[in-house]
Amino acid sequence: MLTVEADRGSYNVHFLQDSEVWIQTLRSELKSLMPSTIVVCSNQQVFDLYGDYIISGLNIDATIHTWLFPDGEEFKNLETVVCAINGLDSLGLDRRSVLIALGGGVVGDLTGFLASMMLRGLSWIQCPTTLLAMVDSSVGGKTGCNLASGKNRLGAFYSPNAVVTLLNSLETLEQVQMRSGWGECIKHILLGAPEMIPMFENMVEKDLLYCPHQFQEFPSMLETLCSVKSTIVSEDEFESGWRATLNLGHTIGHALEKILGYGTITHGEAVLLGMLCELKWQYVDGVSGTKEMINVIERLINTIDMSIKIDDTIDELTMFDAISFDKKMQCDKLTMIGLDNLGKPLLTSIGPSKQLELCTFSVNELNNRLINKSNQ
Ligand code: NAD
Ligand code: MG
Repeated sequence: MLTVEADRGSYNVHFLQDSEVWIQTLRSELKSLMPSTIVVCSNQQVFDLYGDYIISGLNIDATIHTWLFPDGEEFKNLETVVCAINGLDSLGLDRRSVLIALGGGVVGDLTGFLASMMLRGLSWIQCPTTLLAMVDSSVGGKTGCNLASGKNRLGAFYSPNAVVTLLNSLETLEQVQMRSGWGECIKHILLGAPEMIPMFENMVEKDLLYCPHQFQEFPSMLETLCSVKSTIVSEDEFESGWRATLNLGHTIGHALEKILGYGTITHGEAVLLGMLCELKWQYVDGVSGTKEMINVIERLINTIDMSIKIDDTIDELTMFDAISFDKKMQCDKLTMIGLDNLGKPLLTSIGPSKQLELCTFSVNELNNRLINKSNQ
């Protein structure tokens, strides 16, 4: 178990393999909140798999309701939020009502956002069911939804009261979602847990990349990877500086998602390729990194068999245009996240001419990789 320090109070993050222990832990975290009403927020797909188990297993003296969001990133928007506000309001919630987010990052971000607003703040518990949500989105307290102008443009910092993870829920997760989760896991390895590399590679050798819950060391590995994020977040909860290191690989990653079209590549895969481009360029440019470090990163990234299909090459001006939307762009300066070495992140800032160099370097790197992949 991890304990995360946050402005709203510290919270526990549990990594559990046994479903009976999971439900007991959820029950005891809930009991400490003395809930009057509980609302299990989920979507149909996840609720069909795990919803009944929660509802029948909780055995707690409180009224239990459910609220189902439509499934998919395209529904992580204001219409869904407004509909849920009215729906939850009709349930007659009070200040001791507790929301449970049962699902991936979309359900987690929406539920947390609702919790931050309803009655000026309700308690809430995350039960993440995707690898990405387990290692990344369930911790750190960022909640919200997308606006027409971009992803996650509306929201609040509102940390949960607990995170209770059932690792075995990965059993039903699609491979493509698993690959996306591994992208953020490898990012956390590079940022703060390089000692996990042999364990990760051992899991890959055992052919358990798509069923990590069967890997004996997985609970401790996930806990370590999650602690990389929680440590960074605890130092800078409201993102005034250092928390930006968690965006390693996201400048080129987000641009790539935008250029190829969401759905062509998962977020985690885009982040993997983004890390490779950004770190390799910073090494070639003499800013940070070593040859050995780049070799290790290429080796790790090659363990994820990306299934991207593209028809055409990407050009540097399209890339340059796409990175101008980056959240880390201030005036015309872009904050770059680099690594002095594995586990040693650093922040620098680059102007437009260097940004264009980064784009030229990245499109060469990506076109080689993506076209080779597409033609296989
Ligand atoms: P997701 O929530 O859309 O889940 C992916 C798909 O898997 C969905 O169709 C879902 O229904 C299904 N699913 C979930 N659990 C399952 C299970 N156990 N078995 C079978 N199917 C299951 O995607 P995601 O990758 O978990 O999250 C992405 C979202 O997270 C994005 O909106 C992103 O902005 C957000 N995010 C937030 C933070 C943060 O700090 N708050 C960090 C990273 C990402
Ligand atoms: Mg990310």
